[in-house]
Amino acid sequence: MPREIKIHNNLTRKKETFEPIEAGKVKFYSCGPTTYDFLHIGNARALVVGDLFNRVLRAFGYDVTFVRNYTDVDDKIIDRARELKRDALEHAALFVKECEKDMNSLGMMPATHTPKVSETMPEIIDMIQDIIKNGSGYVVDGEVLFHVPSFAEYGKLSKKDLESLQHGIRVEVDQKKKNPADFVLWKPAKAGEPSWDSPWGKGRPGWHIECSAMAKKFLGKTLDLHHGGVDLMFPHHENEIAQSEAANQCPFCRNWAHNEFLNFGSEKMSKSLGNVVKIRDFVEKYGGQVLRHVLLSVHYRARLEWSDEVIQKALDEVKRIHEFVLECQNMKASSLGECDPEIEKCLDKMMEELSNDFNSAGAMGHYFSFLRYVKAQKENLSNESLAQVFKTNKFVSAALGLVAENPQAVLEKLKELEQDTSASGVDAAWIEKLIEERKLAKSEKNWARADEIRKELTAKNIVLKDNPDGSTDWKIQ
Ligand code: AMP
Ligand code: ZN
Repeated sequence: MPREIKIHNNLTRKKETFEPIEAGKVKFYSCGPTTYDFLHIGNARALVVGDLFNRVLRAFGYDVTFVRNYTDVDDKIIDRARELKRDALEHAALFVKECEKDMNSLGMMPATHTPKVSETMPEIIDMIQDIIKNGSGYVVDGEVLFHVPSFAEYGKLSKKDLESLQHGIRVEVDQKKKNPADFVLWKPAKAGEPSWDSPWGKGRPGWHIECSAMAKKFLGKTLDLHHGGVDLMFPHHENEIAQSEAANQCPFCRNWAHNEFLNFGSEKMSKSLGNVVKIRDFVEKYGGQVLRHVLLSVHYRARLEWSDEVIQKALDEVKRIHEFVLECQNMKASSLGECDPEIEKCLDKMMEELSNDFNSAGAMGHYFSFLRYVKAQKENLSNESLAQVFKTNKFVSAALGLVAENPQAVLEKLKELEQDTSASGVDAAWIEKLIEERKLAKSEKNWARADEIRKELTAKNIVLKDNPDGSTDWKIQ
């Protein structure tokens, strides 16, 4: 029997004991990225949280079918491809490959299925036909729309009611729509855009229908768990529910979980705000293990504020974990005997945290207490204690992915980083102090002093970048 787990279900807004439809089997869907550009570390949070759910459920003994899609047909892709004078589908395919590289660098377990919109057209069209047949879809000039008032339970996830939604829509009402809240299922093709044949003419799907169709194709009509970033709850997930339930005439998903944002300077990190750090750039500098560590060091339902301190803390902890794992490989039992209860309890405590709505931060806390204890006791370990140490490390690797397959490589990357900063004679505290002083000088309109500080840093190959939120980043040139 798999271990019991409690998950905060956004359908009921309560933490509930997770009960899959078929005992021991989990049908899990997570909304994946739109492949038009390199992913940023905000996207990484959603990806790593999906990976956490998948890993923990497996480690607890569930048989998980995990589907994470790629949105490879979308306005953003079409616009970007046009700018680059590229075919939109080719552009998207290129970035699917780049996303895969990023996911591998974050130590993510492969999903069971990773469908793409471009490969799901027959299922999308079938589903739209079912929606029309069941009275929730209508066709106007080659466009198919979902009629929101036809679905009485609309708003049950986001807790919005149709009345206030209609008032909330201020943009000029689309003449084609029977109701301002209606949304697109299929839109007619425009010149130069990718398109597919359909009963309504050549066109392409609206955004939301893809996930309903992909989920049904690989998981069936009713899912056990659905995940995405909190920004997807409305309208995306609300619309997924409406489409799937209208088409299939049965409940779409029993549990909905959403990760909070990764914030940068008190705002959501997002392309449109221009405050993004690409996964690729971060990993190149610090290694993927450090990013994964930061992302799991906060509960998925809490906001994660990106800062230098968060990175420094993760650097220190990743180093400690990987040094410890290597040290364990050389540990020898000094006696035959039972497991030390102090060592034994860590695994249970970690499982307890993870079975409490995937509390990765809590689990990590227990692991660090264990690590300190084992290091202090390393000369006095019984064979059973040592076996438990290995078992615990293995669990941290399987359920959290916090121990890399090659600890040596992680440590070498960290060493490179330390050498980089010390070889250039950089004293981070000194730089931060000058940045503070420059900020003060600027606030006092003492431009001469502010310029002088910038020059002093430039002379040491430190470049400053002022952010819109008033903070300043630095890097070695
Ligand atoms: P997108 O490519 O913008 O559709 O986003 C892909 C996934 O990343 C979605 O699940 C989003 O909710 C999630 N996401 C985007 N930005 C952030 C952020 N700053 N913090 C957490 N999740 C994010
Ligand atoms: Zn989706």
